[in-house]
Amino acid sequence: AAQKETHGFQTEVKQLLNLMIHSLYSNKEIFLRELVSNAADAADKLRFKALENDSLYENDTELSVRISVDQDAGTITVTDNGIGMTREEVMSNLGTIAKSGTKDFFSKLSGDKAKDSQLIGQFGVGFYSAFIVADKVTVRTRAAGSDAADGVEWVSDGDGEFTISELNKPARGTEVVLHLRDDEKEFADNWRLRSIINKYSDHISIPVQMWKEETPERDGPDGEKIPAEPGEWEVVNKATALWTREKSDISDEEYKEFYKHISHDFADPLSWSHNKVEGKTEYTSLLYIPSKAPFDMWNREQNHGLKLYVQRVFIMDDAEQFMPVYLRFVKGLVDSNDLPLNVSREILQDNKVTQALRQGCTKRVLQMLERMAKNDAEKYQGFWNEFGNVLKEGPAEDFSNREKIAGLLRFASTHGETDAQTVSLADYISRMKEGQDKIYYVTADSLQAAKSSPHLEIFRKKGIEVLLMGERIDEWLMQHLTEFDEKSFQSIAKGDLDLGDLEDEDAKKAQEEAEKEVEGVLERAKTALGEKVVDVKFTHRLTDSPAVIVADDAGMSTQMMKLMQAAGQ
Ligand code: ADP
Ligand code: MG
Repeated sequence: AAQKETHGFQTEVKQLLNLMIHSLYSNKEIFLRELVSNAADAADKLRFKALENDSLYENDTELSVRISVDQDAGTITVTDNGIGMTREEVMSNLGTIAKSGTKDFFSKLSGDKAKDSQLIGQFGVGFYSAFIVADKVTVRTRAAGSDAADGVEWVSDGDGEFTISELNKPARGTEVVLHLRDDEKEFADNWRLRSIINKYSDHISIPVQMWKEETPERDGPDGEKIPAEPGEWEVVNKATALWTREKSDISDEEYKEFYKHISHDFADPLSWSHNKVEGKTEYTSLLYIPSKAPFDMWNREQNHGLKLYVQRVFIMDDAEQFMPVYLRFVKGLVDSNDLPLNVSREILQDNKVTQALRQGCTKRVLQMLERMAKNDAEKYQGFWNEFGNVLKEGPAEDFSNREKIAGLLRFASTHGETDAQTVSLADYISRMKEGQDKIYYVTADSLQAAKSSPHLEIFRKKGIEVLLMGERIDEWLMQHLTEFDEKSFQSIAKGDLDLGDLEDEDAKKAQEEAEKEVEGVLERAKTALGEKVVDVKFTHRLTDSPAVIVADDAGMSTQMMKLMQAAGQ
């Protein structure tokens, strides 16, 4: 007899299972979407591997997912003939959560069901969602290309443990059997399942099939005989790759469901852009902006990038080469007609086609954001609140799109009452004073610190707007953003501040006189401070504070110095 081993789930899996069962009760049917999505991924992976070694098909090249119901047993079975899993793969894929930052994510859960169920949406539920409706799940699988004797059976009741045993499985691929909970037996119904597939899985590119019962010979309305039809597997989805279809034929719902399939996100996307490009380089891109930042957005090892297809064949996930890092939140795919099927990450790295696609995709995303900002400011603000700090990396990374990116930035400012980052550079410029030719800003450790900067005093007095920057990334941003709309940026905390035409003549004279009076004080301060300072100067920037520390024009700003110190330099 095959030996059976019992293993415990990783702690995070237990937490996920627990949370899922309690928070997804109003959305139970998504379990089928997740299982069909996995089957489709498994088909994609097999097709890709078979490009090099077509014996993996084992003479069965018709890839499909089949869903069947056994009402008496109260089970639903989802069967695919995709890549399958080895024993090791079963152990890690169906026993742990492989995503980076998982521990971190679970440490954020509060115990408040409503809040936590929001979070779980960001995390994605995947295979484990089977336990929403099942109190026992059996997975039988065999990896393509391995012996029938190398099959694996995995069984769990979702309660902390699973068993693994050997299995003889002649058919390649994976079969998932859900033993429905007593109060979920309603799902053991062909029509119900069909409608769920129509709703969530129509876009899946391989055929999703369900068994159609035979119909006996019967009488037609005019007494003629309608012949018997044998039972058969019937395709119940569209089964064409969504991005190859005409835009006008694709509904918003289909775009949204497709997003969930490829992104493993649970929430709807904020926006998308679908484009077929013809000419020198030919490709299709379908790019999505998520509505929420993933929980591991700031994790440097986080997977990002697009799915790459070549002539409709899936090649790889997370192809980073098609998106700059500052757009790493974008999800989607590119399908190229110009890259070779055997393309590798190394080949992509330094490739003309890659560059053209990257430029094209970048342009599309920036365009999508520009339109959103113009047509739906509220939606754009939602985007900015989630991803603004990532976009701020843009001017440093992408010289050629600097002006475009700058146009998308939003800041807090001394104009208006709100602390929110809502002011665009165009807004700022439209409010510039007569004679003002610079965009003034101040960076600090926090927005609060920026707001109470003594450097602001003179600007307040003169009614000149100043952009307030209190995020860590802002200093980096401002090192790379020198101009917008031909106006240069000026930190109000740096060196001699020349307010140019904004000064008035009488005030200047008064200041020169005051300057003479305090000459002695400056000398004494210089001697007392010695080497600690480069210089001690008179300033007329302050109205209430007696003194202020400023950075040398040529040197780093004080904020940048603090950053470098924090980084141990
Ligand atoms: P995700 O699909 O987001 O990776 P899931 O929880 O849905 O996460 O699945 C976990 C992993 O289990 C998959 O990444 C895949 O490696 C494996 N897996 C699940 N279902 C199948 C299947 N039908 N065939 C092959 N592998 C599968
Ligand atoms: Mg999945």
